[in-house]
Amino acid sequence: MITEKLQQVINDQITAELWSSQLYLQMCFHLKKEGWDGFAHWMAKQSEEEKEHACAMADYLIKRGGEVKLAAIDVVPCGWGSVLEIFEHVYKHECHVSELINGVVAAASAEKDNATQDFFWGFVREQVEEEATASSIIDKIKHAGEAGLSFVDSQMAQR
Ligand code: MG
Repeated sequence: MITEKLQQVINDQITAELWSSQLYLQMCFHLKKEGWDGFAHWMAKQSEEEKEHACAMADYLIKRGGEVKLAAIDVVPCGWGSVLEIFEHVYKHECHVSELINGVVAAASAEKDNATQDFFWGFVREQVEEEATASSIIDKIKHAGEAGLSFVDSQMAQR
């Protein structure tokens, strides 16, 4: 049985994951509007992935005898200047999410809940990949320049 305090922490993280999903969906629609179909496709997948994280956390909470309480999702930003600016935003946001996940592990540790620590260590490892992926896309965009950006766009459609 999970503690009341950890249940709240995990519910907050579920809300944060759904907010991330909305953020990336908004980025997807913005990119699509600008004609960057590959980048938009990548962002749609990213949005789905964040929703999957939220659902995995919800399933875990239920397994531990907790209750999922979905909260309102705050409005996400919109309107970016360039593809580079969008991916710099993604990178910054993923670094923020990493801090949030570290916070969940710390809370589980304080409650001496080893199972929850173990479950969220999986997300800690995943965040390493998320940050690295965003960072490498930023590098590609910087290398590409305007002309080469269409090539990167077509690569992004492969995801
Ligand atoms: Mg996530």
